[in-house]
Amino acid sequence: MDIHEYQAKEILAGYGVPVPRGGLAYSPEQAAYRAREIGGNKWVVKAQVHTGGRGKAGGVKLCGNEHEVYDAADEMFGKRLVTHQSGPEGKIVYRVYVEGAVHILKEIYLGFVLDRKTERVMVVASAAGGMEIEDIAADKPDTLIRSVVEPAVGMQAFQAREIAFGLGIPGEHVQKAVSLIMGCYKALESLDANMVEINPLVITEEGVIALDAKMTFDDNALFRHPSIAELRDKSQEDSRETRAADRGLSYVGLTGNIGCIVNGAGLAMATMDMIKLAGGEPANFLDIGGGATPDRVAKAFRLVMSDDNVQAILVNIFAGINRCDWVAEGIVQALEKNPVHVPLVVRLAGTHVEEGRRILARSGLPIIRANTLAEAAERAVQAWKNDVNLKQPKAVA
Ligand code: ADP
Ligand code: MG
Repeated sequence: MDIHEYQAKEILAGYGVPVPRGGLAYSPEQAAYRAREIGGNKWVVKAQVHTGGRGKAGGVKLCGNEHEVYDAADEMFGKRLVTHQSGPEGKIVYRVYVEGAVHILKEIYLGFVLDRKTERVMVVASAAGGMEIEDIAADKPDTLIRSVVEPAVGMQAFQAREIAFGLGIPGEHVQKAVSLIMGCYKALESLDANMVEINPLVITEEGVIALDAKMTFDDNALFRHPSIAELRDKSQEDSRETRAADRGLSYVGLTGNIGCIVNGAGLAMATMDMIKLAGGEPANFLDIGGGATPDRVAKAFRLVMSDDNVQAILVNIFAGINRCDWVAEGIVQALEKNPVHVPLVVRLAGTHVEEGRRILARSGLPIIRANTLAEAAERAVQAWKNDVNLKQPKAVA
């Protein structure tokens, strides 16, 4: 789960990480009021959306008086902010954060991630801040510092000092940087975060301060942290995925055109692999779960068909707890209510498979049947190709 910058800053501040004074606003009036509350004579208005790269997309504005703060906020509210990280749909701005502007001497990158290779938390840092980590890795790989945390002992002060020295933090600020680094690690560890990113961490006359903050959390551990789970902002999530989750389905939208309806996450992954192997691209990952009722199958169909890119559907059910006859009934119900105009391939195996196949045959629906997973994937890709060729206008000779 992702959270907003202002939420991450509030959490990290609780672990001793210095952040600028700021306040949240839901209206331009409130933004101007926040600026007055914060004091000083320069502020930054920042769109709160679940994506990075806001600065370059007009989501971070420096302001010299309250009117400018009002106008900057007014401009941002309701806007669909499209950044190079947000995808083409962008994210709509419903909240802005107003912050005292900081005089920056130097920008630094600091990230904490889970490194799969070492199975440890790894600190990634670079003195070439103010750019995305991908660009640093591509353009200035020699500036990258990597430091792996030993889980038995956690982040050690000497290790944080090494990172601070490696980043060229001035001697008088090293101790502050060390406590900032240790604070970030402590937050990540105690709250089951997957990632903490401070980009930029800046050096000022007075010390070090986190100007941006990003945290993501392990969904499977959220039950241990109700106060974190409360920070979820559904307005920032893929509405298809949220809708699916609310209906007991696990859905991840992808960019291909073969829609998948599968029971079990492992089988769903295997089905996607087989589609690729057969020369197609899956439009989604969808796990309808065990014990799927006809109603849930019908919902799954509606969800998959709501994606305009879908040009063929593959249903792959290996029923253990599930029942093929229920799934078949769900398919028939869904198609009777909302007929699909793309090829549909169905592979059923397992509990009550004979009855399931009978239901499909009796329905008279134009379903392409398959017996094995490989066959199903090949038929889906073949049917999709034929169908697209058929629908394409023929070139005039
Ligand atoms: P994003 O990463 O989404 O572009 P940031 O919060 O990193 O958003 O802001 C982009 C840039 O704006 C920063 O690199 C920094 O230069 C500047 N900035 C952000 N917050 C402040 C602040 N409080 N004071 C001064 N400059 C800021
Ligand atoms: Mg940033």
